[in-house]
Amino acid sequence: MQAAGAAGRIRIVLVGTQHPGNIGAAARALKTMGLSRLVLVAPELYPADEAFRRAAGADDLLTEAQVLPTLAEAVADCRLVLGCTARSRRVALDELAPRAAAEQSVALAATGEVALVFGRERTGLSNDELQLCHAAIHIPANPDYSSLNLAAAVQVLCYELRLALLAANGLAQAGEGGIDEAAATHAQLEGFFAQLGDTLDQIDFHKGRAPDSAMRKLRRLFLRADLNEKEVRLLRGILADAQRMARLARPKGD
Ligand code: SAH
Repeated sequence: MQAAGAAGRIRIVLVGTQHPGNIGAAARALKTMGLSRLVLVAPELYPADEAFRRAAGADDLLTEAQVLPTLAEAVADCRLVLGCTARSRRVALDELAPRAAAEQSVALAATGEVALVFGRERTGLSNDELQLCHAAIHIPANPDYSSLNLAAAVQVLCYELRLALLAANGLAQAGEGGIDEAAATHAQLEGFFAQLGDTLDQIDFHKGRAPDSAMRKLRRLFLRADLNEKEVRLLRGILADAQRMARLARPKGD
């Protein structure tokens, strides 16, 4: 997947923003993190000079920002919509931490449109607006003082998106082991474990000990490695050679 393309499919939606300065500061937050799509839903005061002053050079994002009357219109074409809430567990939605939310967003943005939605300074997002979201994101702030300034909350999420995009890019560039390689299926892993078990018998690895404990440890090790299909093929190739050598080494008639 191309993470650069993914960044272009992620939009930050500000709903009913009251202070234009926060819109400018949010634009700056996006731009510093390599994002560019800002959508404003019914901002109270916009356009405004204060927004451009606080954008500090991210004016292009403000000029290109879409302004729409409702959240429904702002996210109509999205496959993933995540709503940021200052109060934890206020709604009957799954709640994600910023890092997990960013990772999901970047993964989905490989193929579809994603929106992260932020509420009003005074009252946040309404329940109706939260109903339009697939899950909520809560920044685990001080529970006694959990409400960040709007643009500060945007900055935290954009930073997490940046990290997730960089990680996705790094993996894609690394090629093998990258996210463009399909993860091995359950059946492929079981095929590998069966061949591993046979091979360990054939090379007499266990030397009379019960094989269960070693196999359990090896399974845990390989499951942790999050193998892709190509890697499973490589490992099975090595096992096949070890099996062939073991056959050759066996005394004739054995
Ligand atoms: N008084 C409002 C807080 C609004 S802060 C309330 O209690 O809901 C403005 C917006 O910033 C919020 O709607 C939310 O989108 C975002 N925000 C602020 N603090 C946040 C936090 N701890 N986690 C996630 N989003 C937060």
